[in-house]
Amino acid sequence: MPSDEKVYSPYAKPRGIIAMRARVQAIYGLTTLTKEAQETLSPLVVDCPACGATGLAGTYGGMGWLLCPRCHGLGVVYRDLEKFLARRREIIVRQPEIVIPDWTPGRPYRCPVLDLKRNIVIDACPEDELPRQGALPLEG
Ligand SMILES: [Zn+2]
Repeated sequence: MPSDEKVYSPYAKPRGIIAMRARVQAIYGLTTLTKEAQETLSPLVVDCPACGATGLAGTYGGMGWLLCPRCHGLGVVYRDLEKFLARRREIIVRQPEIVIPDWTPGRPYRCPVLDLKRNIVIDACPEDELPRQGALPLEG
């Protein structure tokens, strides 16, 4: 396997199952990616051309990094957002239990987790295990 020395945003290459779930939830606005959602929505999600799917606009050594302003750090963008939203609405009609309320497309959550009992998304971030460079504020 070739070594990949690229640097990725924590949203583009999350560590751990909770952060990985948070990424899927942020991209799709669904608490779980069903087979139907995977098949109909995934083709409309493509690597961000602005950052090469790294989610970063730049890294500055030990100072930190900047999130890509196009994909907000997720490393992916919607090929056709209107079509994506239309297909997502069709899925939600059939499976309303998997919708994430107040979802905004293309914006990462640090780590939303589904509360299965109440079926709501709560913020329940565990502490990061490894030290990680911080994000720098975008100018302007
Ligand atoms: Zn990007």
